[in-house]
Amino acid sequence: MNDCLFCKIINGEITSDKIYEDEYVIAFHDIFPQAPVHILIVPKEHIESAADINTGNSYLTAKCFEVVSLIAKNEKLDTGFRVITNSGKEGGQTIFHLHFHLLGGKTFDRVGD
Ligand code: 5GP
Ligand code: ZN
Repeated sequence: MNDCLFCKIINGEITSDKIYEDEYVIAFHDIFPQAPVHILIVPKEHIESAADINTGNSYLTAKCFEVVSLIAKNEKLDTGFRVITNSGKEGGQTIFHLHFHLLGGKTFDRVGD
């Protein structure tokens, strides 16, 4: 029924390099890092993408950003970091379960460069 990779990571069917978990959110290292720090912050509820954030579930996005802030401190990203969410095929999304990429440990160009 639910064939979602991130749901399988959340329910423990698939292992991940997990660094944080609470009632609402899980965070683990991206399997294919694009920066020295590349962590995925994922709400446990299956929300397909940013296009599906609404009044009823937006608190989970807020929870994710609380975790972004916490992990950025733990990872000592004091000089800055980038958070990305890809939405939909044209947005470059490949896993259709809302998640936020926390990228750090390097200097980024302007968005779009
Ligand atoms: P998206 O392309 O949807 O924005 O991001 C999906 C991310 O999930 C990619 O950066 C990809 O490297 C990562 N990913 C895909 N499969 C796995 C996996 O099995 N484990 C982990 N930890 N990350 C994965
Ligand atoms: Zn899912």
